[in-house]
Amino acid sequence: MSDATSHEIDHFMKGLMKRNPGEPEFHQAVHEVVETLIPFILSNRVYKDAQILERMTEPDRVVIFRVCWEDDSGNIRTNRAWRVQFNNSIGPYKGGIRFHPNVTLSVLKFLGFEQTFKNSLTGLPMGGGKGGSNFNPKGKSDREIMRFCQSLMIELHRHIGEDTDVPAGDIGVGSREISYMFGQYKRLENRFSGILTGKGLSFGGSLVRTEATGYGCAYFCENMLNHIEDSLVDKICSISGSGNVALYAVEKAIELGAKVVTLSDSDGFVHVPNGINLEMLAFIKELKTVRRGRIHEFANHYKGVDFYAGKRPWNVPCDIAFPCATQNEINRADSQELINNGVKAVVEGANMPTNLDGIHEFRHAKVILAPAKAANAGGVAVSGLEQSQNALRLSWSREEVDQRLKSIMLEIHSKCVQHSHKYEDYTDYITGANIAGFTKVADAMLAYGIV
Ligand code: GLU
Repeated sequence: MSDATSHEIDHFMKGLMKRNPGEPEFHQAVHEVVETLIPFILSNRVYKDAQILERMTEPDRVVIFRVCWEDDSGNIRTNRAWRVQFNNSIGPYKGGIRFHPNVTLSVLKFLGFEQTFKNSLTGLPMGGGKGGSNFNPKGKSDREIMRFCQSLMIELHRHIGEDTDVPAGDIGVGSREISYMFGQYKRLENRFSGILTGKGLSFGGSLVRTEATGYGCAYFCENMLNHIEDSLVDKICSISGSGNVALYAVEKAIELGAKVVTLSDSDGFVHVPNGINLEMLAFIKELKTVRRGRIHEFANHYKGVDFYAGKRPWNVPCDIAFPCATQNEINRADSQELINNGVKAVVEGANMPTNLDGIHEFRHAKVILAPAKAANAGGVAVSGLEQSQNALRLSWSREEVDQRLKSIMLEIHSKCVQHSHKYEDYTDYITGANIAGFTKVADAMLAYGIV
């Protein structure tokens, strides 16, 4: 990198950090993007002259509101919620809602910023947004979850709409929460419309939406491996997390011939040296989605499965790592451990799971890394297909949606390869995804003039 480029990156980041104090996750997400985008912008002056990057890192607006609700013991509880409407240049704002005690404005701005690029990569007309609350769903009763979702929607309903902003799920928000929110929206507005995605199948949801993020990651991984004349067959995969993304990544990876040896939750990870089989996967799905239990219960139930409390799975040797839990779950030490154990590829199922040091280590060791905005775009892509089905008042078959998902993931892969820098035989997917995602949004912003 030339001195002029690194000076420009430093200058840009200093300004961004000054304008957005105390938002480390947002700084990190932007830094990762500008490291690869600024060299591109410096050689495409039209974007520089129009200050597109400065404009793209400033959300269109942020709505912040109080959510009051009553718990089962009659105590009044207060949480904070946000909707970050980041950029609607190429379509209505689109992105999930996260319920987790560590949700802050910084976390939602990083997610909304990333979502803008991700949604652009899908090729569908979706802008970027994200929302959430510091509400902790862990240990809450069904009724408490319902009251919280209803109270949140009392404020959120006035800010969303099928042509304005279409939220969906994310960590802590699945079909139960989407259903409570959708039901409340319908009462408030007296309208049945596709204002949320991830809905139940009997009220406008799409087949394959539940599986889409995890399946999409496995498809993207297969595309990456095919690109270097390899495949998932017989690959040892280490997957973190045990939510929606992780479980369906396991399912598809097994179907494509891989052996998946780990899963995790916030208590620790499980190691299955012989590989997770379909019976085990069914057990874990029931444990995690119906009983809402902990991953160590899986280890207690099966012989030959070990549980490691308080640890992440990155010291287990594997060919491919799928971080599918949450942000910053792979740091420099984790990436070094993976590299020393011979990892060939990293496929990000979670958003921003690898920190900047980890990214630099992987790039240096020529480990191919599929960034979240490309690898996990399958979820929001099928959300986009759900919007299309809602607008048409039709439901497509499972095969039709799955086929479209596959083609979208293949198309994203091609765009990444087309825009990446080639270092001999190494494809830098991060650069490819950032440039491809950026240009579509940036060109729309240029067309709109100074807005
Ligand atoms: N939360 C998911 C993501 O990070 C899905 C968003 C959506 O379907 O709108 O992409």
